[in-house]
Amino acid sequence: SRQITPHAIVSDACVSYDSLEKLNQNVKPAVDDLTHTTDYFSYYRLGLFGRTCPFWNDDSGLCGNIACAVSTIEDEADIPLVWRAEELSKLEGPKAEHPGRKAQKERPQRPLQGSLGENVGESCVVDYDDEGDDRDYCVPDDESASAKGDYVSLVANPERFTGYGGKSAQMVWDAIYRHNCFKKSSFPHSAGLGMSSVARGPAEQDFRAVLQSAERQQVLDQQRSQGIEGPVPSSTGLEYEDECLEKRVFFRVVSGMHASINTHICWDYLNKMTGERGRNISCYVERVQSHPERIANLYFNYALVTRAVAKIGPHLQAYTFCTGDRDQDAATKAKVAAVVDASLKQPEIFDESLMFKNGEGPSLKQEFKDNFRNISRIMDCTSCDKCRLWGKLQVAGYGAALKVLFEFDNGSGEIPLLKRTELVALFNLYARLSNSVDAVTQFRDLIETHGVTD
Ligand code: FAD
Repeated sequence: SRQITPHAIVSDACVSYDSLEKLNQNVKPAVDDLTHTTDYFSYYRLGLFGRTCPFWNDDSGLCGNIACAVSTIEDEADIPLVWRAEELSKLEGPKAEHPGRKAQKERPQRPLQGSLGENVGESCVVDYDDEGDDRDYCVPDDESASAKGDYVSLVANPERFTGYGGKSAQMVWDAIYRHNCFKKSSFPHSAGLGMSSVARGPAEQDFRAVLQSAERQQVLDQQRSQGIEGPVPSSTGLEYEDECLEKRVFFRVVSGMHASINTHICWDYLNKMTGERGRNISCYVERVQSHPERIANLYFNYALVTRAVAKIGPHLQAYTFCTGDRDQDAATKAKVAAVVDASLKQPEIFDESLMFKNGEGPSLKQEFKDNFRNISRIMDCTSCDKCRLWGKLQVAGYGAALKVLFEFDNGSGEIPLLKRTELVALFNLYARLSNSVDAVTQFRDLIETHGVTD
């Protein structure tokens, strides 16, 4: 299979693979510290149970495996103060507010003031009962005190191999790839992705064309880094036409998320014979390493989310991460600043200002958003609780990143405000991607040293 050379540039980003790995050496300890040791970032409240899959009846797909179970926190006394319903209902958090649809139309945008704006009496970043916002890339999981939600410790429920798979998981991935397509495709379709045996409609053909475009870009990058010019060899079976940046980015986000999840599955795999957990090299080689475009998409996502963290970072200095304890608030803020500082060490990483600008770009923005919202709905069809938890959290994290990148123009003076759940999802997504990039480098070293042995 084609291998990735370290100096190659990650296509659609402006950074090489080895620069990202170097950056990650600073990011990983900081983001692990933030997400493992602070109450604010290690608990999450979401609608995990009782939501039906809006697309099909998946009663048969329930994962009865113990590893699929999520231990939720039933007793409010065990929940850190900051996440308790009574506290959520007390705090209003105007700083973290997004104007509702009506207010957005009536109110001019707030100028950047280096603070959270005028008339701000309460400075904690919390959520409130909110119908959602035109700028959301996800269907919000309501965190308001009145809404039904589940408290989860993310540290106690790590993302890893659960044994979930088969038809149910396949249907979810299929739906994600198949139903979330851009309608206006200028692309012919060609050889399949091996995604599924179901009949492929025009929408899927479009998405498959996007993948081929991303794969082709990857091959071109490899060739260029090796000093080879000219077209992709026909033996790759890839199309020659270029897909537009926006469709490519959309596909890469989904595929990179899939690659990250599968990397974690192989990183913390359960050997059913011995009952022991550990690395599974052949799982990794089969699902990730032998598909360099998947690694490219994973690194692309790392670059994209790093840029989102770096972009919102300076504004977070004005946020207060209220935990009910001033010392903890200050410690949390310092840990957020450490992650942001690390993310800023690679300034040229992804240029969001190129998106939705040229050609059919501007007309694609609403479709891009609608498609991403659809993916957040499909997550409720994942019938393994733990997979659904991390799937929902990561999709929410990407939604927050996309909102920061594409809804707040650089230099417009607008502050990208995020709700608490969005911030927690964004930083935990960053931690997941950071862990995946680290796992890719460690798997590479293991394979170089031992070969594919298990
Ligand atoms: P799958 O990973 O199911 O992939 C299906 C098809 O998609 C493949 O045949 C391939 O053609 C294509 N494909 C695979 N990777 C990519 C990629 N990166 N880009 C593009 N196309 C790709 N299992 C766990 O053990 N732990 C978890 O935490 C977990 N979380 C999950 C979260 C979600 C939202 C979903 C839908 C599933 C989750 N799973 C989890 C299940 C896991 O992702 C796989 O579906 C399962 O392990 C079966 O794997 P598979 O080899 O059949 O291929």
